[in-house]
Amino acid sequence: MKNIKDYDIEKLEEELLNLGEKKYRAEQIFKWIYKENAVSFDDMTNLSLDLRNKLKQNYSLGIYKILKKQVASDGTIKYLFDILDGNAIETVLMKYHHGYSLCVSSQIGCKMGCKFCASTGIAFIRSLSSGEIIEQLLAVERDENIKISNIVFMGIGEPLDNYDNVINAIRIINNPKGINIGARHISLSTSGLVPGIYRLADENIQCTLSISLHATNNEKRSKMMPINTKYNIEELLQACRDYITKTNRRVSFEYALAKDTNDNLDDAKELVKLLKGMLCHVNLIPINKIEKGEFTKSSNENILKFRDYLNDHGIVATVRRELGSDIDAACGQLRRKELKQ
Ligand code: SF4
Repeated sequence: MKNIKDYDIEKLEEELLNLGEKKYRAEQIFKWIYKENAVSFDDMTNLSLDLRNKLKQNYSLGIYKILKKQVASDGTIKYLFDILDGNAIETVLMKYHHGYSLCVSSQIGCKMGCKFCASTGIAFIRSLSSGEIIEQLLAVERDENIKISNIVFMGIGEPLDNYDNVINAIRIINNPKGINIGARHISLSTSGLVPGIYRLADENIQCTLSISLHATNNEKRSKMMPINTKYNIEELLQACRDYITKTNRRVSFEYALAKDTNDNLDDAKELVKLLKGMLCHVNLIPINKIEKGEFTKSSNENILKFRDYLNDHGIVATVRRELGSDIDAACGQLRRKELKQ
């Protein structure tokens, strides 16, 4: 059955016309799904009984079941959802002083194989549809009775490897008639799929682009992130410059600090050379230790020295607050434990 959340409002209008209904019904249905968070077509009481029956016969609302919910001492919540086809995905809710931020998955498993990521142990199964991406947000809002104000595409999966569905989901999340979260409150994080960055620059969406950089030369980065052997640092940074020129948006570089791997001052110096003059921000991430993983967290002293070096040399850098560290917050860890993969 088709998932009704896969359709943006224009496509839903076409679907309704095909069912012999009026176009304006799409806006009413959008309101029920995205403003009222309806879990059944029967709840849509301003639609005729006949239309509700047609919707039930042709579409599902793709409502997730919660398989597991872990709450960390800092309030971070990690969900494992049953997405109704025998697969499970995870979503993390973080509470900040400015509101709730949700880290969504874009694929079941991931092909990228980044060495520091727990998802690396999970085989790629398939990409999520737009509706499956969006339902993560709606399911969490229902469960916690909250409004989410920020979305980050930083869960399992490479968003630019599921380009069309992710962009469609962003448009529905951003649409004032849909979920209505401002594009500036939506971040998309990529391991560095360069063609996708060029495409994104032309989409006219003001979302924040986040690049998982993690190393300052090709030798080191290729060891951590196999994607670097396909698109190297120079090509990646050129695509970022193009993105900045076209969108006038600051790019955020993610840099997970791993002990004795990429956390000394020589790395910081190389990073300054690479990013000098770019409209950007560096997000330093104290790496989460992964079971059997080859990377361990840098010392606090090294993290602060690294941050200070960048800031003293004209690169704005902050250390990301460690959230959910007592609930396996590195992506993929919860799922792997639960599914014994
Ligand atoms: S860090 Fe992201 S892109 Fe890399 S393997 Fe993990 S989920 Fe995939």
